[in-house]
Amino acid sequence: MAVLAAGAVVLLMGKGRKSDPGGPGSRVEKMRTSTPVWPIAHGPYPKIATGGGKAIGASRPNNRRHAGIDIIAKAGLTVVATEDGTVVATNVWAGPNAKSLLLETDSGLVVNYGAVAPGSWHDFGIGVGTKVKAGHPIARIGRYPGGDTMLHFELYTSGTRKNAQWKDGRDPPGNLLDPTEYLQRASTRVVS
Ligand SMILES: [Zn+2]
Repeated sequence: MAVLAAGAVVLLMGKGRKSDPGGPGSRVEKMRTSTPVWPIAHGPYPKIATGGGKAIGASRPNNRRHAGIDIIAKAGLTVVATEDGTVVATNVWAGPNAKSLLLETDSGLVVNYGAVAPGSWHDFGIGVGTKVKAGHPIARIGRYPGGDTMLHFELYTSGTRKNAQWKDGRDPPGNLLDPTEYLQRASTRVVS
């Protein structure tokens, strides 16, 4: 169900995706040459779940699978742009204190920052259409209805404007990418 492009930094998760052959100017090459910034400023110390309930693909209630990676973080911590890009959407996410913000990167990816505090982007002068540089503050960690606080981090192909649901027993959504390796590279660039 998943195809790993040779040397690529993201795992294309959709069925039938072809490997990008790479080479100068290609999408894979562009992603490989830029090191993203860790999405939370001042820590928490970079920790990427590659198994268990926080990992991508983990089982969730209502026959869903986890479409991102959870980074446990205190409410109110500052979330930053992983790369240069443009804020393209702010959406309903999981209850009154957990919204999502989508950043389309100049390198051709879309990051979905899940469970950020509603309107927290205004603290940083951010709205839909705002262009930001890597490391620029864009929102604050919010709170899930059950009280958990974290950054739920999803990665998509260019053009995505809302999160996709991954149903158990089905192939992952075609625009969904595995953010594991992306976050591993980002873990070397934490802004303070
Ligand atoms: Zn999550």
